[in-house]
Amino acid sequence: MVKTPKISKLESVIEQIQTPSYVCEEALLEENLKILSYVQQESGAKILLALKGFALQNTFYLIKRYLYGCTASGLHEAKLAREAFDKEVHTYSPAFKDSEIDEIIKISDHIVFNSFAQWQKFKSKVFGHVSCGIRVNPETSLAPVALYDPCAKYSRLGVTKKAFKEELLEGLDGLHFHALCEQNVDALEKVLEGFENAFGKYISRMKWVNFGGGHHITREDYDIERLIRVIKNFKKRYNDITVYLEPGEAVGWQSGALVASVLDIVENDMQIAILDTSAEAHMPDTLAMPYRAQIRGGEKPNEKAYTYRLAGNTCLAGDIIGDYSFDNPLKIGDKLIFEDMMHYTIVKNTTFNGIKLPDLALLTKDGDYKVLKHFGYEEYRRRN
Ligand SMILES: *Cc1c(COP(=O)(O)O)cnc(C)c1O
Repeated sequence: MVKTPKISKLESVIEQIQTPSYVCEEALLEENLKILSYVQQESGAKILLALKGFALQNTFYLIKRYLYGCTASGLHEAKLAREAFDKEVHTYSPAFKDSEIDEIIKISDHIVFNSFAQWQKFKSKVFGHVSCGIRVNPETSLAPVALYDPCAKYSRLGVTKKAFKEELLEGLDGLHFHALCEQNVDALEKVLEGFENAFGKYISRMKWVNFGGGHHITREDYDIERLIRVIKNFKKRYNDITVYLEPGEAVGWQSGALVASVLDIVENDMQIAILDTSAEAHMPDTLAMPYRAQIRGGEKPNEKAYTYRLAGNTCLAGDIIGDYSFDNPLKIGDKLIFEDMMHYTIVKNTTFNGIKLPDLALLTKDGDYKVLKHFGYEEYRRRN
């Protein structure tokens, strides 16, 4: 399968966009889903949407045509998966609560426990109702930063080989690992090797293995044919066992933008444009990862004629998106398009400083611009 370069049509509706707003492009999202669907067909794996990274409900009608279900990090995501997606619901949490487990059991198809203690604690409740698995830590990861490395030293995520209790496996149907972050299939191969070395002897007793997320399948340079081979070979080694993948980012990858406006331009040894958005509140990975957002028409500082620091409209001194250069001077009221802002943004947004949450909008395949959700003062008031 050849991936076609994604072509955004956002500029055709730019006049209609009230900023700040996330705008998902239905056609681009569907291109991702077609790639994921091809991987499913060719490899036999089942792919789930990880809601942690992308949970835009109004697109679920489309996603559920292609994927098997959702993966949830706890009760609330599981509820949304059941209510709005209603296919398979797989729920994993670092620790489940007594007060929530009954409802989670009712709405989940799979539950993955993070420790044998949790499995023992809830075993009598879940047994017979849900297919249960245990998350293991393959202690092999090539994650780019410690913040996103589930195998980092002292990680709480998953059972290590040392802590594994073979005598408690009775009743468990699956093994789960998640050790990738925005990675290609070569990283999966390494993790899989670590996983099989440590836990391979238990796989024949299982019905399924979940390879977690972090597979950057829809990225242009991701080697999907090699992924298909890796999955097929794995299935061949283990008697055609069911394999799940649960990407979040790869579903939302390059499927939409955050559009913001220039509110003011101030000068302090350089030009600083203040926008009606915020790195801290609306694109936190720019600070956490850190990560440099792509801006349509914007380049690295001084590559083009006019350089600006783009900054958020909050009182946090470090609320800085980055320095960018443009062909023309920025003007107050100009709209800027931050590329690829659908995943790990909306799900993490805050009303820090009382700043407005960006609207959620959809550019349909027919070219219509639809505001899905508008947020105002009420969101801030209710949460404080
Ligand atoms: C975060 C996470 C995912 C999704 O990861 P992506 O990087 O968005 O693909 C899947 N499974 C688990 C357990 C996770 O923690």
